[in-house]
Formats: sequence, structure tokens, C-alpha cells
Amino acid sequence: MSPGLVNIAYLIAASLFIFGLKGLTHPRTAVRGNRLGALGMLLAIVITLLDQSIVGYGIILAGIVVGGGIGAVLAVRIKMTDMPQLVALFNGFGGFASVLVAGAALLEVAVLKGTLGSIAINAQFSISTFASGLIGAITFWGSLVAFGKLQGLTNDGSVRYPGDQIVKVVLVIAILIFGYMMVIYPDSSIPYWLMVIVASVLGILFVIPIGGADMPVVVALLNSFSGLAAAAAGFILVNSVLIVAGTLVGASGIILTIVMCKAMNRSLVNVLFGTFTVTEGGPPADEVYGGKVKSTSPEEVAMLLEGAKRVCIVPGYGMAVAQAQHAVRELFDLLEGHGTTVEFGVHPVAGRMPGHMNVLLAEADIPYERLKDMDEINPSFKQVDVTIVIGANDVVNPVARTDPDSPIAGMPILDVDYSKIVVIIKRSLSPGFAGIPNPLFAADNTLMLFGDGKKMVEGIVKSIKEELG
Ligand code: NDP
Repeated sequence: MSPGLVNIAYLIAASLFIFGLKGLTHPRTAVRGNRLGALGMLLAIVITLLDQSIVGYGIILAGIVVGGGIGAVLAVRIKMTDMPQLVALFNGFGGFASVLVAGAALLEVAVLKGTLGSIAINAQFSISTFASGLIGAITFWGSLVAFGKLQGLTNDGSVRYPGDQIVKVVLVIAILIFGYMMVIYPDSSIPYWLMVIVASVLGILFVIPIGGADMPVVVALLNSFSGLAAAAAGFILVNSVLIVAGTLVGASGIILTIVMCKAMNRSLVNVLFGTFTVTEGGPPADEVYGGKVKSTSPEEVAMLLEGAKRVCIVPGYGMAVAQAQHAVRELFDLLEGHGTTVEFGVHPVAGRMPGHMNVLLAEADIPYERLKDMDEINPSFKQVDVTIVIGANDVVNPVARTDPDSPIAGMPILDVDYSKIVVIIKRSLSPGFAGIPNPLFAADNTLMLFGDGKKMVEGIVKSIKEELG
């Protein structure tokens, strides 16, 4: 193919990636954005295959069938609550692919040298093989550890040992030495693979001290790393569309990481090197709740809702676990039909991944304009007659505002406690992700509706229907 044609096709593919990302910024356009991105990738792959003098398509087809098959099965079977693990695996394999691309490029150099006698290697090649192998190996092993922690296969706590920072510094020095050797002996792959081994150990040691609670942030960061590794592989292969795609993933991953840190009021340094663990500090649960918790029933909540003019629904991780979104949609329809204004207060880190609640509510066809961001809904909670919190805990915990020693101190929360009545649907008084009691459950204006999110919402819907005849 003529280089001009290839470059034009790559430009179109890169534009499709960018329009795809733009589409992903809003739930209404997200599906289209996803399709545009996929179309861009298909175009990039087809053009790359046509451009390279592929000798046989057998292995490529086998790879597509096996990889595509595994991906399709995983995508269909994975639970929404397990999505961070799946993303971790995807990132990891992206990083591994970059390690292999760099390794294969070095192998090719050795073969060429064997046939030609000598071969000139420029700095771009050496630096990009080093970067691709280094970042790829860290991403692969770091992602596997993140997967193990999120999946409950390994200890999900923070694993620390004496001198851990010194060990990491030693590993970094070893990596730099092997990197130097890669420049001195550019046609040997031995320093490269030694560097990959050390980087793999560093990847494991980088993630094991980070507690399970921060794993989704680490997954977003590793996502960024996988993009950078792919961009480095793009420099090895001198493939502009791979450089663009990798850079886009690298940039969007780091932006997402920063957004998540901000929503939890943590710095990235604190997430990576701090010690956020489930705390034993603060007042014990008995003291917070003792004799103050009032429970209610679906029938009573139905009566409260019938008298309400303005209702806010706040979903959290428990709504995802209970898969209550369709029951919530039914409740929304009933209340709206009854003349009540219903809005949804969506916290940016409710659930276990950014946008988790938006995806679930969109799946149940809740109108997008009823989904309110934290900043938008917070000033109006005083005018809300009834707020129903479904399986959310940390994101509505007022200690974030009131207790500077709390592990979630300063985390922006939804101020549901300011509404006239708060109904909390959850199965028990057990804590959320941060592992701390929530005084909201014992507040004067709070009623606890204990039970599974879906069953309780269905119970409320049934009672309202019975009341309305
Ligand atoms: P939480 O983890 O604070 O609380 C979820 C609550 O859901 C639990 O208290 C649990 O209580 C309840 N629950 C579980 N299953 C059910 C069920 N079947 N029916 C009803 N309730 C149920 O969730 P939030 O969404 O409030 O907060 C998210 C937390 O995750 C924050 O701490 C955030 O920082 C953290 N996080 C989020 C990330 C993101 O990107 N979204 C990334 C990293 C961390 P019970 O067992 O009593 O039912």
C-alpha cells in the first residue's frame, strides 16, 4: 500500500479514537463513542495488516479467534461489580503484549545481524524497546496483583515489609544498569530480558503495599501505563496510529486517576505510598448506633413517599450488588406518575468504578436529565422531602465533613442528612468500603429499611400500587 494512503487511513483511525473518547464523556453518547473507537481500531488493524507484508494469516486468525472468544465470553459473563478486575486483566495483557513486541523486535535485530553481518541501531529503537519492556512488565505484574486482590484470591490488605522502599530503589538501579547495557550492546536481547525480570518484580512490589480499597485507583493508573507501553511499542514499530492510541490511553488513564483521587480527597502519592487501611480508629459502632437506630418497613416508606413532593434517590455499591436498578426505575415511574419530582444524586465514586451508577441507571433507562452530580444536588437537599439511599454508605457518611481524623475526612459527600427524611436501604449496619461506622444511620431524621436493595424497592413499589388501588 502507498505510504500516503496508509497515513490517511491512520489519521482517520486516530480521529475516530478521539471522537470515540468525546462520546464516552456523556451517557447519552457513550455507546456511539464506544462504537466509533472500535471502528477506528478495526480500520487501524486492517490497514496495518495490509501494509505489512504478512506471509501467512494463520497465526493471526488463530489469535483473533482465541483472544476474541475469551474476550467475548468474559464480557458477557462478568458481573458489573467485577468490572475493575476485568479492566485490570485487560491492562495487564496490553502491557504483556508490549513486552513481547519489544522482545520480538530485538530478536529480529539479532536475525538481521546474523544475515547482514552488522546493523545500525538508532537511539529511538533502544529507548523505545527499553520503555516498552519496562512499563509493560510493571503493568502486567502490577495488574495481576491488582486482579488477585480485587478477586479475593490474595490478601487484599496492604502488604509491607521492612526496607521495602530500599528494595525498590535497588531494583530501579538494576533496571537503569540493564538499560545502559541495552544501549551499549544494542543487538543483544539478554540485558532486555534481565531488565524485564527485574521490572516484573518491581511491578509486584509496587502494588502489594497498596490496600484493596485503593485498587480501583491503581487499576486506572495501570491503564495509563499500558497506554504508555503501547505508545513505546509504536515507536519501535514506527507505527503512528499505535503511538496515538497509546498516548490517548496513557493520558485518559492518568486523568481518570486524578479524578478518582480528587473524589476521595486523596493525593496520588498518598494512594501509592500512603497507608489507607480499614481503620479501627474513631468511635466504635456500638457507641454510634446504640439504641438510636430506627427501622422501618416498605409499607411505611410507601406512605412517606405518597406525601412527598420532592424525592431524591441516592444509589451506591449495594444497588449494584442487588441489581436493583430496574425496580428503581419502576419506583421512579410510579412516583413521577403521581406528580412527585424524583431526582438521582450520583456521587463520582459511588460503587466500585467511576461512572458505575450512571451505567446502571442508564441500563434501566432512567432519563439522563434526572441524574444530578454531587455539586448540583447538594445545595438542594434541604428542599427534599424524602431521600432514599440504596446501598450507599461511605459516599453519604457525614463524618467526612465533621471528623478530621476519619479516613474519609475531607472526601466530598452527598449531603443527604440535610433532607427532611432519609430512608436507608441496606441489609445491616455493617460498614462500607472504608470500614467505618456511619452516624447517619442513627440520625433523628433517618429510618433504616433493612434488607436486600432490590427486594425492598420492589416491596415499596408493591405497597404504593396497593395504596393507589
Ligand atoms: P460502600 O462500599 O460505602 O457501601 C456499600 C453498602 O452497600 C454497604 O454498606 C452494604 O451494606 C450495602 N449493600 C451491599 N449489598 C447490598 C444489597 N444486596 N442490598 C442493599 N445494600 C447492600 O459504597 P458507596 O457506593 O457508598 O461508596 C463507594 C466506596 O468505594 C467509597 O468508599 C469509595 O471511596 C470507594 N471506591 C470507589 C471507587 C469508584 O471508582 N467508584 C474507586 C475506589 C474506591 P450491607 O452489607 O449492610 O447491606
